[in-house]
Amino acid sequence: MGDSPENPDGLPWEAASEEDEAPSAAELEDAGQESMFGGPPPATSAGETLEEPAEQAVAASRPADASESAAPDPTQPYRVLARKYRPQTFAELIGQEAMVRTLANAIARDRLAHAFLMTGVRGVGKTSTARLIAKALNCIGPDGQGGPTISPCGVCEPCRAIAEGRHIDVIEMDAASHTGVDDVREIIEAVRYAAVSARYKIYIIDEVHMLSRNAFNALLKTLEEPPAHVKFLFATTEVEKLPVTVLSRTQRFDLRRIPVELLEAHFAEICRKEGVEAEAEALHIVANAAEGSVRDGLSILDQAIAHADLDTESKVTAERVRDMLGLADKSAQRRLFAHMLEGEGKALLSAIDEQYALGVEPLALLRAQMDLAHRITVAQVSGGEAEGVSADEREQLGDWATRLPAGQLHRLWQLLLKGHEEVRLAPDPLVALRMALLRTLYAGQMPDPGRLAKKLETLGQSGPAPAPSKTGATPTDASSQGNLDWGELVEAIDASGMMQEASIMRLQVRVVELSDGLLRYGRDAKYSDDIRNVLRDTLHRHTGKRWNVEEVPGGAGAPSLVELIEAEREQAAAATRSHPLVRAAFDAFPEAELIDDGGAAPQRREIPWSRNA
Ligand SMILES: [Zn+2]
Repeated sequence: MGDSPENPDGLPWEAASEEDEAPSAAELEDAGQESMFGGPPPATSAGETLEEPAEQAVAASRPADASESAAPDPTQPYRVLARKYRPQTFAELIGQEAMVRTLANAIARDRLAHAFLMTGVRGVGKTSTARLIAKALNCIGPDGQGGPTISPCGVCEPCRAIAEGRHIDVIEMDAASHTGVDDVREIIEAVRYAAVSARYKIYIIDEVHMLSRNAFNALLKTLEEPPAHVKFLFATTEVEKLPVTVLSRTQRFDLRRIPVELLEAHFAEICRKEGVEAEAEALHIVANAAEGSVRDGLSILDQAIAHADLDTESKVTAERVRDMLGLADKSAQRRLFAHMLEGEGKALLSAIDEQYALGVEPLALLRAQMDLAHRITVAQVSGGEAEGVSADEREQLGDWATRLPAGQLHRLWQLLLKGHEEVRLAPDPLVALRMALLRTLYAGQMPDPGRLAKKLETLGQSGPAPAPSKTGATPTDASSQGNLDWGELVEAIDASGMMQEASIMRLQVRVVELSDGLLRYGRDAKYSDDIRNVLRDTLHRHTGKRWNVEEVPGGAGAPSLVELIEAEREQAAAATRSHPLVRAAFDAFPEAELIDDGGAAPQRREIPWSRNA
C-alpha cells in the first residue's frame, strides 16, 4: 500500500503500508462509498464514520479510478476494489438490466427526462449509474461526431473526463453535507449559463433526500422549467423522504438489490482479474453477506483478500471468511437446525453456547438458520436439488425438503423471523437467541395451522362468526346479507381483473346490508377517503346493473374480509398455544432454565413462554 500518484488525497489506510493491519470494514466501506463527492458528511443518517474533512462539494476533484490496468501490478499500491472496479459501461453494471433497457429506449427515442432519480439500497450502483448516464449524454464518440448513446465510447474527452471526475460540466454534490438553500442556490445560479464544453450540463446530487425543505423549494423552480441544456441526476436511499413535487418531475429508476448468484459471479471475475485464488464457498459466503450490495460485498472481499495475504497459502478460504464475518461453520449450523426440528432442547442450547463461545454473533447465527429454512423451502417448491456449496449440504437440505411439511417450514420461518427482530433489539442478544430458538422447538410438533383453521371454520359455522374484538365491529346476521355472498362477490370481482378494487373491498368494507343492487356498509374510522364511487363503478361493471351504495357512519357492519382472516388467524394461534401437543412439547425440556416456575403444572408453563414470545 502507500499513496498512489492517482490518489493525491490518499485515504488514511492507503498510507499505512507498513502496518500489518488490514483495513477495517468501516474504512473499506467508506472508501467504497461514492468518494467522488469528497469526504463523507460529518454525520449522515446512516451513522457512517467520518474519515476526512468534507471538501467543497461542487466541482469534486478526486480523480476516478482508471479501469485499464486491472491486473495486479506489484509496483502499484493496493486499491480498494469497490473503487477499482467501479463500472465504466452499462454492460459492467450488474443486475440492473431493466433500468438500462429503459434508459436505452429513452436515449434512442430522444425522450430524455430533465431529471432522473436513482433509488435503491446502499451500494447497488446509484451514483455509478449517475456517472454512466452523464457519460451517455455527453459522449461524442471516438471521432467527435457521436450523439447521446447507451454505449458511451469511453475514449472521447468527455467520457474520460467524466470517468476521472474532472469534467467541468458534470457537477457532483453530496446533499448529505450540503443541505442548505445556499448550496442549491449556487446550482440554480449556474444553471442559467450554457455548458462550457459538453452537450449537457449535468448536476449529480447524491442523497438528495437530505436537502432541507427550503433547498427543495429553491430547486423546484428550476426543475419545473429547466433550461434545455441542463440535466439533473438525483440519487437517494430514502425515496419516501422526497417531496412529491420533486418526485413528479423526475424519471425514476429503482435499482434492484443484486442477486447472490450475480454477486458471486462478479466477485469470482474480480478475483480472477486480481490474480487472487478464492474458494467457491468463500465467494458464496461473501455474496450472501453483501445483501444485494456490490459495494458491501467488495468491501468484505477486500478484507478477505487482506486476511488471505497474511496466510502462507494466500488463498481466500471459506473458513477464513467465516471467521472474519463471525459466521458459524456450515455443518454446525445444520446440526443446530436439526436439533430444532427434532425438538432436542438440551442439545440445542449447548449447540448455541458452543457457537457463541466460538465467537459467532447471535444475529449471524439466527440468520444462518433463516437461510437454511429458506433454502429448504425453495428446494421443496422447485422440486429440484437444494442449493448448497458442498455435496453434504445439498444432500441434507434435499432430505429435509422432502421430509418436512411445507406448513412446518413456513411456521419455522415465521418464528425465526420474529426471533431475528427480538435478538436485534434485545439488551442481551444471547438470551434472546436462546429464547427464540427454543420457541421454534415445538413448531415441529404443532398441528398444522391450516388444518386448525379448517376446523375453526367448521366450528364457526355452528357457532357465532369470529369477530375481531378491537375493531368494535358487530357481526351481522348472515340472513341480512340476502342471497349474495360478499366474499364470493369480491373474489369474482378480483378474478375478473379488478384486483385493486377487490382489495379495497376486502380491506375496508364491513357489510351492513347486501342484496342485489344494494350495498350498505361501514368502515373502520381510519379510512377516510370516499370509496363509494369506486364501489358503485366496480359493482356496476361486474354485474351490469346499477347499484345503490351507501356508507353507514360509525364503523358498523360485519367484519371486513381482511378482518375475518385476521380474526381466524388469531384464533388459530390461540388454539395452537393451548393445544395439548404444544403443552407436551413444553414438557419435553423441563430443565430449560428459562422457565422460572419449574414446579408449576404443565398448563401454566405456556404463560412465561408466551409472554416472552
Ligand atoms: Zn465517449
